[in-house]
Amino acid sequence: LPACIGFIGLGAMGKPMVINLVKKLSCGTKVFVHDVVEDSMKELDASFPGVIMKCANAKEVTELSDVVITMLPEGSHVKSVYLDAAVGIIAALSGLTTSKLLLDSSTIDTATSLYVKEQISNSSPLATFYDTPVSGGVLGAVNATIAFFVGCSPSDPNLPRLTTLLQTMGSKVIPCGGPSLGLAAKLSNNYLSGIITIACAEAMDMGMRAGIEADVLASVFAAGTAQNAICDIFNPVPGVCPKAPSSNGYQGGFRVQLMKKDVGLAVDMARRLDSKNILGATSLGVYTAASEASDCKDLDSRVVYRYIGGRED
Ligand code: NAD
Repeated sequence: LPACIGFIGLGAMGKPMVINLVKKLSCGTKVFVHDVVEDSMKELDASFPGVIMKCANAKEVTELSDVVITMLPEGSHVKSVYLDAAVGIIAALSGLTTSKLLLDSSTIDTATSLYVKEQISNSSPLATFYDTPVSGGVLGAVNATIAFFVGCSPSDPNLPRLTTLLQTMGSKVIPCGGPSLGLAAKLSNNYLSGIITIACAEAMDMGMRAGIEADVLASVFAAGTAQNAICDIFNPVPGVCPKAPSSNGYQGGFRVQLMKKDVGLAVDMARRLDSKNILGATSLGVYTAASEASDCKDLDSRVVYRYIGGRED
């Protein structure tokens, strides 16, 4: 593992990822962190004194680190963190004498990611940018079971190093072919899981209204052709999966606004690629409305069960 690692974006995913990283580090390794929210930095800094150090901005993190990982909400945040000429990552790259790996694990559009990659390689031949988005949710980030989809070929010379590093925070590392294809894979995945969530909420509601108990219905789907991870691990009906956000008032997990963002990015990607997209518009409409509904916004995306009028008692 590199001696100095930077991490920017200490939110629902970033914070547990940093904690897992630190737990697997060899003695002497340091982690430099930055977030616009001061409290999230302070908390980590206080929990791991001498190992995690807070920095004033992305430039400082990059100056101090061999590898920098970013975990930010949207493309606009990624652009500003990487490309701000005064305090961004790019500001630390001129005159580099040793190589740096820059890994963006945020889920953003492929065009922004390719643009950032181009700007970084124009700044220094020693800095290499990869898209490394993740899947597996906050629970996966806490348990270090997330999967990383990497925008590189299986023969990329940096892949073994990347794999060793990323496996401290997750279980699977899948090279997807080339730049931005980690993101294309992630958006295809979330398009599918977003649609499965709506279908699962509707099918659960229908079966329950017919008189079947929620847990019986979930075990029917698990044993039948409808088996899927949303139903088994993140069932949108409260009480079916005790550890799922739905059983905790839809707190934690993957915010409905983020699912709206990802389905929107996937629909745009499909349009650009002339890929026929029948369910996309309907799903995007559901997530857009749920993101704005006062009893759903800011909650886990599986709150679509509440949005469609599912029974929570
Ligand atoms: P989050 O909103 O909880 O965290 C984002 C963090 O970035 C926040 O702490 C915020 O303060 C920080 N931030 C924003 N702008 C910044 C800036 N300019 N400089 C420094 N820090 C800044 O989001 P999250 O749930 O952790 O998700 C992060 C990314 O991972 C998103 O792209 C999301 O789509 C993706 N993702 C999330 C999940 C999930 O289940 N939450 C799962 C897979 C992928």
